[in-house]
Parts: sequence; C-alpha cells; structure tokens
Amino acid sequence: MKHLKATLLVMAIFVSSPTISAQTVIDVLVMAEPNADASKIASQLAEVNNVMVASGTGVSIAYAFSGAPQVIPPMTGSDTVQHIAATTFAPAVALRNSTGADLVIVFVDELSGCGFAPADQWYGGNGINGTAPDTSGSEDKYVALVSTGTTTDILGNTVDCPDDLPYLAAHETGHLFGAGHEEDAIPPAIYLYNNSHADYTKPVPFPLPGIDGYYTVMHSVIPVECQITGFNCNALNKYSDLATATNGVYHNTNNRQAILDTKSSVTAYRVPGCSLTRPDPVFGNINNPCDPDPWTSHNMAWFDSCEDESEFYEIYAQQPAIWGGIDINYVHVWNTVLPWDEVFVKGGAANFRVKACNSSGCTGKSNTWYWADAICEGH
Ligand SMILES: [Zn+2]
Repeated sequence: MKHLKATLLVMAIFVSSPTISAQTVIDVLVMAEPNADASKIASQLAEVNNVMVASGTGVSIAYAFSGAPQVIPPMTGSDTVQHIAATTFAPAVALRNSTGADLVIVFVDELSGCGFAPADQWYGGNGINGTAPDTSGSEDKYVALVSTGTTTDILGNTVDCPDDLPYLAAHETGHLFGAGHEEDAIPPAIYLYNNSHADYTKPVPFPLPGIDGYYTVMHSVIPVECQITGFNCNALNKYSDLATATNGVYHNTNNRQAILDTKSSVTAYRVPGCSLTRPDPVFGNINNPCDPDPWTSHNMAWFDSCEDESEFYEIYAQQPAIWGGIDINYVHVWNTVLPWDEVFVKGGAANFRVKACNSSGCTGKSNTWYWADAICEGH
C-alpha cells in the first residue's frame, strides 16, 4: 500500500539480468538475520537463477541486493512463527513495496529443517492457480526462509544446510511458485498439480551397477534417500529434467510446468513505479448457498496489477443482473481495502464490478465482472 512508502529506510540497488525477450523478471528482496552466515548467501542466490535458466522456465531473478542483504532482527521460535515475523516486519514490508520486490528470501541462522516457504494458495490443483491471477499470495505467501545453519536428517546425520544443499534457496523459491515434493501423481496432491513433484528416478531394475540415480531441485529428503538405497545420486540443477525423464517426456515431472503457469502472477505481486490501474479480472466462487438464510454468500476477488497505488476499492453491483455483464445500472454499494471481499446476494443474481481508488481518485469500473447467483431462496 502506498502509505508504507514513507517509511523507506534503505535504498537498494537492482542488479538486473540483461534483457532477454520473453523473460519474466521476478524481483527478489534479500534479507538476513545478523547471525546468518553471510558467506553462504551469494552462491545460494546465484543457483536460484541458474536453476530457473537450466529448467527452461523463462524466469530471470533480479535481486534487490547491493552486495549485502538487508538486515532483519533476530527471529526465534517455530518455523511458522519466524515466517510470520519476517512477513510482518514493517521496514521489510516498506522496502519490498518501494523496490517492487515480488518475493523475499530471508537467510536465517536456524530452522527446524533447512528451509520454509509456505505457499498454500497454490495447493490443490484447483481454485486460484495456474494462469489465474493470485491475489492472496502477494500479501502473505511471498517469503522464503533459508537456513545457513544445520539440521539432522532422518538417519541422524548432521546436514549443513547451505553446503550440503546447494539448491536450497532454489528449492524454497520453487515452493513460492507452486512447485512441490511429491514423487508421483497420487491424489489428493497438495501442490499445484497432482503431478507437481520432483523427479527422483531410480534405475530400473534397481539398482543397476554403475548407473547413478539423480534428483531434481524440489526433492525433499535428499541425500538421505540415496544413502538408504545405497547408490549414487546426482543433484540436478533443474526443477524438471526432460533429458532424463522416462520416455523422453516430462510426464509427471511438472515442477517446471508449475513455474510456467504461475510466473505471470508472481511477477505482478509488486510493480515498482506503476500508477493506479483498473482492476481486472474480477472473479469468484460460491462460498455458502444459505448463510445466513436467505442470503447466498460468495467469495469475490480481483487482480490489481498496481496494488502499491491502491488505497481502497469501490464495489459496484447490478441487480437484476444482465447476462453478459453489460455496463449499465451499476450502483456503488460499498468500499473495501483488500482486493477481495465476501459478497451476499438475495432476490436474484447480481453482477459486480470494481474500481481501484486512492486519495487522488478512482479508475473506471473493471472491464470484467463477477456474476453472483442467488440460490438460497426456495430451498
Ligand atoms: Zn520443500
């Protein structure tokens, strides 16, 4: 939001990759706790870009990072508690907005494991995912925690997170794009696709002497699983690997596809220097058919490509709804601050459109509309 810009504390310099056509540039703000091992940061960050390129994602990472990461105060507690602290640290929020950083990577000294990057807005393979704009992840699911410390694997071995897992930051960044761990399309999958998993192919028949296995970046239990099975596993610097996939197709190695589908949403999480923009598209779904009776509750949301400039939204309703959403007879019904709201309808369907507003005025109504049925009455 715009008012946070006033608390800008530090200017960061963008180090951008050369402009390559068809590249989606994701701006990333890098933070670090004082006790995080700063010597491990540069190589971890370099590998995020390397993995994006090697995977053919069309994503290049531009760091809001000028030689030293921005300092975040020491955080303690569970991974979740630390993640909330990083997400809500006011100077970091302001810095993210002022630099237009879509994602934030925070290097920390200790986690329960080696990384933590919840991105549940992509879960389930339905709802807000794929090519649909993600309005929720931009607000609280953009932070990846990466540990420079150690953890203990399931065999009791000590794992040096940054040294033993060179693609750790790339792994956590992958989660922020909806990539996940699963090895097979076993429903119900929790990630973006049923088959949004890492490719960890054991030689068949297994093990074949002299043939190494491999694992991709999103695999979660490396390298322990290889130790257990007693053969060599090579770390591939890719989210999915066509060359080594069975039968030469990506089949169920679609972490790459997850990134292809979500990158346009992620790059629009924050847009530096944008101006107030008409929200589009407006979309939604039925929340509850009769709550409270006789109202039908809907969840409605809209995509705002310049949230930095929007201070509130005006919601307009058309009732009776005109099929096709023709822009007549819309009445201003209420305002909301966040780019989504619960909508209640009775007495027949309504269409909704939205304007983005700030102290200097409002945009025109959205070009798209949400048709909200009233289905409670008569039941
Ligand atoms: Zn993971």
